[in-house]
Amino acid sequence: MELKQARKALVSLAQEIGRKNLVWANMGNVSLRLSEEAILITPTGGFLEKMDNEDLVMVDLEGRIIGEGKPSSELPLHLEIYKKRSDISWIVHTHSPYLIALSLIGAKIDFLNPEFEGVLGGVVTVPYIKPHSLELGREVAGRLKDSNIALMERHGAVVVGADEVSVMIRAETIERIAQINFIASVWKRVSQEENGGF
Ligand SMILES: [Zn+2]
Repeated sequence: MELKQARKALVSLAQEIGRKNLVWANMGNVSLRLSEEAILITPTGGFLEKMDNEDLVMVDLEGRIIGEGKPSSELPLHLEIYKKRSDISWIVHTHSPYLIALSLIGAKIDFLNPEFEGVLGGVVTVPYIKPHSLELGREVAGRLKDSNIALMERHGAVVVGADEVSVMIRAETIERIAQINFIASVWKRVSQEENGGF
């Protein structure tokens, strides 16, 4: 993929993640592997839904900036995953509200049916580790060996894929499934109360 096209595709994905409320304010980040030597990543403090081609930052696999800009604070997370997963070129980190809420109460997510599970391509959980740390990056990368989604306790999701369509579908599907789990648990509780029990 040529650089101009890569920038356009990454901006388009970032904006869609922002529009679909998978992040809030100026949080969340998205990256794309350009080659074995370089990635493009969203900048620190940028609003994903307002992202522009010039905002993106190019860095090498050791995290050295190529050109200008300041990369996302979660750069170590992205780099550790790219080092371990040669089969993927896209990473999205969301702060999906329902996923974070379910992680707070330690709820086990019901993935509903095999079709949805197939779309997700494997989901692992990661205990709470300080955001932006190399430790978090290493832990997530280690656990994502055979899966495409990591749910980070009290924090959000990391979704990986070979193309921008699959990461978007995964990021949206896992949050929708978490939302459905939440709605079902509320209705279950209401139904139990109506029947005189808890
Ligand atoms: Zn985060």
